[in-house]
Amino acid sequence: MPTMQAVQVAKAGGPLELVERDIPEPATGHVLIKVQACGICHSDSLTKEGQWPGLQFPRVPGHEIAGVIERMGAGVEGWSVGQRVGVGWHGGHCGHCERCRHGDFVLCQNAQVPGISYDGGYAQYMVAPQEALARMPDDLSDVDAAPLLCAGITTFNALRHSGARAGDVAAILGIGGLGHLGVQFARKMGFVTVAIARGQDKAPLAKQLGAHHYIDSSAQDVGASLQALGGARVILATVTNGEAMSAALAGLGVNGKLIMVGVAQEPVEVPVTQFIMGRQSVQGWPSGTAADSQETLAFSALSDVKPMIEEYPLERAAEAYDRMMSGKARFRVVLTPGKH
Ligand SMILES: [Zn+2]
Ligand SMILES: [Zn+2]
Repeated sequence: MPTMQAVQVAKAGGPLELVERDIPEPATGHVLIKVQACGICHSDSLTKEGQWPGLQFPRVPGHEIAGVIERMGAGVEGWSVGQRVGVGWHGGHCGHCERCRHGDFVLCQNAQVPGISYDGGYAQYMVAPQEALARMPDDLSDVDAAPLLCAGITTFNALRHSGARAGDVAAILGIGGLGHLGVQFARKMGFVTVAIARGQDKAPLAKQLGAHHYIDSSAQDVGASLQALGGARVILATVTNGEAMSAALAGLGVNGKLIMVGVAQEPVEVPVTQFIMGRQSVQGWPSGTAADSQETLAFSALSDVKPMIEEYPLERAAEAYDRMMSGKARFRVVLTPGKH
């Protein structure tokens, strides 16, 4: 039996440990992927700390996977061995629940997540169902593709479904793992792009990412600053702070929408009269399907949107994970099992 290196969590709260495992066999409708790169996401803490209902251990985390199809199980159609593919948060759907019957696969009531429902990409190989696969453009590198399969798709898909059109004001609240991609997407989509973060030191980075305007929320009134630009048609909230989201609402223009993609614990407080008089709204957005991932990758390659990353070899996964959790990484951390 050929074996592989994998990094697993053996119990809730346990360490990330490098282990030798058998290379898994792809079942019917599944493919075996040779993992070239896998991003580390804050959501991987759900696996490490055992915070997902029904999570079974040991589990290999990782849902930002870029790789190559190594082998295919029976019944796989439209894919081929040797093809480059990506797998993101949406790792499969049942096809028979009410939401799937309405074609809303991303909200499948039995949705699978790589690294949670089954072993993910902190390994040299992994198995995924065919409906989780996204095609990879030739000119996009594996390490650049990996974070686009979670942080990228989430911001890209939320922005393109926001109702904002070219020339509208789009504000990205927060410049971090999500926000640094959101700013690039907003610019490349043709929006008047505004980056909002704390401190003047982020201003050069915001400009470098493509922002036309920068608002320092620690020194400026966010609402008044956005109104001075005509009011935002969309504010993409990538921060994890409900208060900061609430404070930004004053910057919405007519038909303006705040879209929440950062997971905050505190509620967002909505100014009701302003919302009625401006026909405004607040919405949450849950990443997207494999087809959305594929379009995210294609758009990124076409328009040169790239994540800023720090690379680590697979055997240093524990260190890489700590680096991501520290909040100091600029901006995404990527494991490279394919480089050995
Ligand atoms: Zn993620
Ligand atoms: Zn379903």
